[in-house]
Amino acid sequence: MQQLAVRGTGRDLLRCRKCGAEFPEGRATRDGWHFACPEDDCDATGIGEGLCRLDD
Ligand SMILES: [Zn+2]
Repeated sequence: MQQLAVRGTGRDLLRCRKCGAEFPEGRATRDGWHFACPEDDCDATGIGEGLCRLDD
């Protein structure tokens, strides 16, 4: 399967601004468009809002 819209392998790290968890981008989204913290008890969503990117 090819995903033309996704740069690289989708393994960029994200950090949750609410609970502080760090996780790969792929864990925070199911469709590559809507992002949410994967922690069960956390409802932070959105890159640049609830989540921030840890690009190298
Ligand atoms: Zn969180």
